[in-house]
Amino acid sequence: MKTTKKFILTEQEMPTRWYNIIADMPNKPLPPLHPGTREPIKPEDLAALFPMGLIKQEASTERYIDIPGEVLDLYRSYRPSPLFRASALEKAIGTNCRIYYKYEGGSYAGSHKANTAIAQAYYNKLEGVKKMTTETGAGQWGTALSFACRHFGIELEVFMVRISYEQKPYRKIMMNTYDATVVPSPSELTESGRKILAEDPASPGSLGIAISEAVERAAADAEVKYSLGSVLNHVLLHQTIIGEEALLQMNKAGDYPDIVVGCFGGGSNFSGISFPFIRENLLNGNKTRAIAIEPASCPKLTRGKYMYDFGDTVGLTPLLAMYTLGHNFVPAKIHAGGLRYHGAGVLVSQLLKDGLMEARSKLQKDCFRNGVLFARSEGILPAPESTYAITGAIDEARKCDEAGIPQTILFNLSGHGHLDLSAYDKYFSEELEDHALTDKEIEESIAMIR
Ligand SMILES: *Cc1c(COP(=O)(O)O)cnc(C)c1O
Repeated sequence: MKTTKKFILTEQEMPTRWYNIIADMPNKPLPPLHPGTREPIKPEDLAALFPMGLIKQEASTERYIDIPGEVLDLYRSYRPSPLFRASALEKAIGTNCRIYYKYEGGSYAGSHKANTAIAQAYYNKLEGVKKMTTETGAGQWGTALSFACRHFGIELEVFMVRISYEQKPYRKIMMNTYDATVVPSPSELTESGRKILAEDPASPGSLGIAISEAVERAAADAEVKYSLGSVLNHVLLHQTIIGEEALLQMNKAGDYPDIVVGCFGGGSNFSGISFPFIRENLLNGNKTRAIAIEPASCPKLTRGKYMYDFGDTVGLTPLLAMYTLGHNFVPAKIHAGGLRYHGAGVLVSQLLKDGLMEARSKLQKDCFRNGVLFARSEGILPAPESTYAITGAIDEARKCDEAGIPQTILFNLSGHGHLDLSAYDKYFSEELEDHALTDKEIEESIAMIR
């Protein structure tokens, strides 16, 4: 029997609008608060950090936002991205479910992060910004923004979590190749960095600390803007190109997902694939379940608390109403570096609170096992982050099989793992550990939120 496996769109069929889910949310998210006054933030308060084009998107209630031509042009270097039927994986796990995946690893950055990097660099360029700062964990986001900035003629300074800077030099080299400056964080360049180093000169750094440094640098210089690779509304907006394409591709496959799965760090790739399907639920009565998969060692969605918290460690960012483990939470050093963030962002948090999506947590060794199974069946070696989505999809398929109700499952394969081979090596040599987190540890971290 011949089965079609790959569903592609032509360049002409590529969607030309992003989807803004705020327009359709039954309960709107609570407003961000100013870190000093704790009053709802005004657009001009954000102007020191972001260009007005992005601030407008952050607060927009329009359902659709046109993707600018120059952004579409660069998207076309790797989009539309392919959608595959995972027939070999289905066979390997012996499921009656139909499993599909959208592959975002084909971008220059090797992940979905290019989708927002290009858009953010573009809006900065439009307003004459000459220099930007950002943070990066293992380096995926920094890599994505480095090329986007280079393309639009913007200088970029990246604060990279020190432990990754030391242990994972390849992304740093990629960023340098794209002409970005990479600084290990915490650094002596900022007050935030110096404060952390004074307390712990050997600090391995964290995403929260690196954000504090990048924000501080941008806030201190009117010529410099800051950029974040996940969490914020405009970032999630830019990623909806994934789900909009997937809707068209599922249609070409003559199928429709009962379940959509994405791994979850700050929520951008999960939102990207799922928001357009949640829209179909809200507007057209469809019943797709959207499931976010987070690491058991960083379980903000499944075990965090919904409350106002900072996006960074030092407390320089606006306060966001979100599921959080506390801005001082430092997750165990699992290899899915992109999933080690303490908070979930306001859109996803409100959707979860309202029961419009679900969340599960998974252990790292199970995820690597499934990542290897996926590589051996489908041929793509997944990013450690993406193995959480694979695991979520496989677990849901097993549950459907047990219930005797086969379903259609779509997951987002957010990136490839070619620069994470050392993590696979550790998995094969049985050096990986699972990290159990006690309720007490979580309670203590949340109690530190000011
Ligand atoms: C950054 C990253 C993630 C996690 O970030 P989200 O904003 O939650 O999508 C997942 N997968 C890959 C490959 C990443 O680079």
